[in-house]
Order: sequence, then C-alpha cells, then structure tokens
Amino acid sequence: MARPTVLIIGAGPAGLTAALEFLRHSDVIPVVVEATEMIGGISQTVNYKGNRIDIGGHRFFSRSDKVMDWWKGILPVQGAPARDYRLCERPVFTSQGAGAPDPETTDRVMLVRDRLSRILFLRKFYDYPISLSAGTVRNLGLARMGRIGISYLHSRCRPIQPERSLEDFIVNRFGRELYQLFFKDYTEKVWGLPPSRISPEWGAQRIKGLSIARAMAHALRRLVSRDSSLDQKGTETSLIEQFLYPKYGPGQLWELVAQEVRQKGGQVLLNHKVTGLRVQGGRVTGIRCTHGDARENLELKGDYVLSSMPIRDLIAAMDGGVPSEVREVAEGLVYRDFLTVGLLAKELAVGNHTAIRTVNGVIPDNWIYIQERDVKLGRLQIFNNWSPYMVRDPHTAWLGLEYFCTEGDSLWNRADEDMSAFAVEEMVRIGLIRPDRVLDSVVIRIPKAYPAYFGTYDRLDVIRHYTDQIANLFLIGRNGMHRYNNQDHSMLTAMQAVQNVLEGVSDKEVLWQINTEQEYHEEKQKASLPRGAVSRDRGPQAAFSTKRSTL
Ligand SMILES: Cc1cc2nc3c(=O)[nH]c(=O)nc-3n(C[C@H](O)[C@H](O)[C@H](O)COP(=O)(O)OP(=O)(O)OC[C@H]3O[C@@H](n4cnc5c(N)ncnc54)[C@H](O)[C@@H]3O)c2cc1C
Repeated sequence: MARPTVLIIGAGPAGLTAALEFLRHSDVIPVVVEATEMIGGISQTVNYKGNRIDIGGHRFFSRSDKVMDWWKGILPVQGAPARDYRLCERPVFTSQGAGAPDPETTDRVMLVRDRLSRILFLRKFYDYPISLSAGTVRNLGLARMGRIGISYLHSRCRPIQPERSLEDFIVNRFGRELYQLFFKDYTEKVWGLPPSRISPEWGAQRIKGLSIARAMAHALRRLVSRDSSLDQKGTETSLIEQFLYPKYGPGQLWELVAQEVRQKGGQVLLNHKVTGLRVQGGRVTGIRCTHGDARENLELKGDYVLSSMPIRDLIAAMDGGVPSEVREVAEGLVYRDFLTVGLLAKELAVGNHTAIRTVNGVIPDNWIYIQERDVKLGRLQIFNNWSPYMVRDPHTAWLGLEYFCTEGDSLWNRADEDMSAFAVEEMVRIGLIRPDRVLDSVVIRIPKAYPAYFGTYDRLDVIRHYTDQIANLFLIGRNGMHRYNNQDHSMLTAMQAVQNVLEGVSDKEVLWQINTEQEYHEEKQKASLPRGAVSRDRGPQAAFSTKRSTL
C-alpha cells in the first residue's frame, strides 16, 4: 500500500513542526511547499555579510513544556556561558547535563539570555514594562506621577464598561494618563490605527495577564529574589527575565528542522508558491503552485493539506464554489507589514549607564521601544545582546531598526538606499547614533507580519465554519489561523493537526481552542474537554500506521 502523503503549505515554524512530527510518529510522507527561498517564515534569520538579522527578535519561551522540550531536543541548552557573559563574568543558567554544549566550541547550542527591554521617551530611558523605580519618578517628575496615580485609581473605581476597544482595555488596566503617555502613539505606530478603533481582543490575547498590580508585585519580588528557572512558571509572559535563543538566531533552529525533515524522507520544496487548491466533494484533492522565476506551474496531490499560508490568500486560491460571504470576509482581513533596516555602526552615541556589564560598553538592551513622536521608528534591536555570535566583528554594534508599515505605502515603497538614509537620520535625531559611525546597512521587507484584529476579523467564524467542513484541510499557525501569536502557538496547532490526521479526526474545534497560555488551556481541557470527550469524526484515513498512537 502506498504511503500516505500530506501537503504542508509554508516552511515556517508551523509547517516544519508538522512535517517533523509526521516523520517522528508515522509513515506519512510530508511535502512542505514554501513560496520563498527562505526557511523559517517570519522566524527566519538573514545572514548579511556575516552579520545575522533576526526579523523582530524572537525569544524562545513558552508556557508549554512540550514546546520547550521540542526546542531543546533540536538545540541542547548551553553547558557554559556565551562569550559576552563569560567576558563580563555575568551569572547565567548553564545546563549541568553530561555533554551540554559550550557555545564557544559548538554551533548546535541554545543560549540562555537575560531579557532587558526599555522604552525611549522624550530622549530618556524607562523600564519596560514601566515600573515605579526611582529612575521613572525622576524622569517623569512628581506632578506627572501624581496624575498617573489619580487616573489609575479613577479607572479602577470607575472602569469603562463594556470594553469596546483596545483603548478601553488599556485605560481600565493602567489609567488614562499612562495610556496617553506610553500606549497610544506606539500602538498607532504598530497598527496604523488609533487603539480606539482596534478590538479589545488584541489586549486580551497579548497583554491579558499584565496590569499595574502585577508589574508592581513582580518588581517587589525581584528586589527579594530572582526567578532563575528556565520555565519561570510564576512569571507573566511579558515580564519573563530570561529566554532561550539559538546561537545563530531563530532561523538556525528551523534550518536544522528542515534538514532533519529531508534526512528522514520528507520533502521541503522552496520557491514553490501555492496559487490554487482544488476542492471537490468536501475535500481538497490537490494544490497548484508556481515554481521559481520561470513561473513553471505544477500540481501536487496529497491525502491531507495543512495550511499555514495567510487565510486571505488561501481562500482566494480555492476553487470549487466558495460561498460569496466567505470570499468577502477573507478579502476584508487586514495585515500589518514590517520593514527592518539592519544597521552596522562602529558604536552607539549612548553609553551603558546601567549596572549590567557589557562588551565594549554597548547598552545592554535586547530591544528598545521607541516612543518618540517625532520619528517613525518603532523598535530598535541590538543583536549583540541576543547572541554575540550574530555579530561578525565584536567591536561593532549590529542593530535592527524596525518600521511597521503597510505593503505599498510610502515607507514600504522607498528605495533601499533612501530608506537606509531615512533610518540613519531618525537615529541621529533621537540621539542614538552619530552619522559618521555608520558602516553599512541593509533593508528587509516582511509582508503580512501581523494579522490584524480589525477589518473583517470579527467575522472570522464565517471562514472557520467553511474551512472546518473540508475534512482533509487543517488551518495551522499564525496567519494560517489569523491569530496574533508566537512560535509556540504555531507549533502547538501543528502538533494537534498532526494528531488529528493520524487519528482520523476531522473535527477542528480543539485546534481553534489552542492558547499559548497552554497551562491554562490544559487546565481547561482537563476540566471540560477530556480527549475522549471531544466529538470525533473518524475518517477513512484513520488507518494510517503510527509509530505511537498519541504524540
Ligand atoms: C516583529 C516580530 C517579533 C516576534 N517575536 C517573537 C518572539 O519573541 N517569540 C516568538 O516565539 N515568536 C515571535 N514572533 C512570532 C513568530 O514570528 C511567528 O509566530 C511564527 O513565525 C509563525 O509561524 P508560522 O509557521 O505560523 O507562520 P510564518 O512564520 O508566517 O510562516 C508561514 C510560511 O508560509 C509561507 N507562505 C505564505 N504564503 C504561501 C504560499 N502561497 N505558498 C507557499 N508558502 C507560502 C511563507 O513564506 C512563510 O514561510 C514575532 C513576530 C514578529 C513579526
């Protein structure tokens, strides 16, 4: 009997996780079909003349032990500190396991990094998340602190009900004064819309556990002790203090996964863009793609399809009588795009005035939120502090200047040279760099970096209902499910889809319930959705031979 084939659209974290899970647990042949030349999707690493760029700065951290263990299985945790921590004698977690790799001598290693991110506002640095430190009080002044306190108390006593927008959500948790100072403009930079026009669900998804009370409790706890465990179970995700990071950035991990997929007999087809899905009798019967610059067309057949491509494109590619309402909702889904200027500088114009020791006195932040209103720059990454091995010459500062934009707008369309000059000019204006210290630059554009919670998002159920009826199609991942989530969510949806396929379950409910706060999800499942209790539709493919019945 021929071995079953599963077509997987996208070689990002979701697609590659699914492929490897199939190979580890069954005799299914996964064929990953990727539009670009790159492995890793948004979690790729770009190597520019030996300096590596992580698009967005990817912390490897998850509430799910399953995900943490999966990552550590690909890249074992460091058994000795990375070069910069060693030189600066900074304390850091090291694995005591036999053979735990030393990053100085081994490439296949997961580093452990401290998180530091601050806010630059009115040319001064503030902790992120904002804390009640002496520095904050000094920078903001007593009068403003008073106004913050009063407006916070006011919103606690008289919260806006019901919460109709992200603005309401944030004001209720932080007060209007803090909202005006630190959230409003930055959120508008990210989304290109004021928070009053964004769904409160965005807040519920991204910052639900964060509040002034929690941030203060965390700051107090830090004074007494530090949670040095890797899982940091007791710490809200926005406040975690350390995270895992591949020696050469996130792309290194996903490239290793792709390599393992190929070694185990799966296929990863790069430069193959999916342009069509044939749907007949409630099943996908094949996909069409174009290959390479020659735009050669080809058709692929598979028993199942897992898709991590953006829902808007997926629905547009489907034939077979997609209802007009489904098409209309799909066309109305909105994305925010993203542009990074990689900037190599001899050094920054600001020195390290913190107590944290760094190599060559570079400021210690992983990233800085740029709240300044007179620039379009949204965030600044300092790759030296993610991994010293990302930077070719340790005597330079290797930066990522992040701009949020919309494909086709004036920022997106700027010629690379203009964009670099513009970015340098902004960095000079906010006092972070001197123009004569810039050595090189590169511009990278990432379309559909963020699925937006506006447009037709509130009618996503219409699409979900339609695609859920297609028994052998599973939507997975970030844009694949239009969920603004991290790698762990993408991976968990992929793992669940694999499990469904192997067990012949075509019900998709459990996939849509996956939450990155997986512990919460697992608790909820224990209480209300025991595995056996999920309504299961056992399809004809349930007879796939699996190496283990549960994953
Ligand atoms: C700025 C920023 C910072 C982030 N920081 C973190 C972080 O700190 N930690 C973290 O865990 N996550 C972070 N993330 C999120 C993380 O990048 C994503 O969650 C993850 O990459 C999603 O994986 P995915 O496989 O679902 O989708 P993607 O990474 O988007 O991969 C989808 C793949 O599908 C391909 N594709 C699309 N259309 C087609 C088509 N028609 N045919 C074939 N292939 C197609 C794409 O080219 C892409 O390779 C961040 C994201 C951004 C934008």
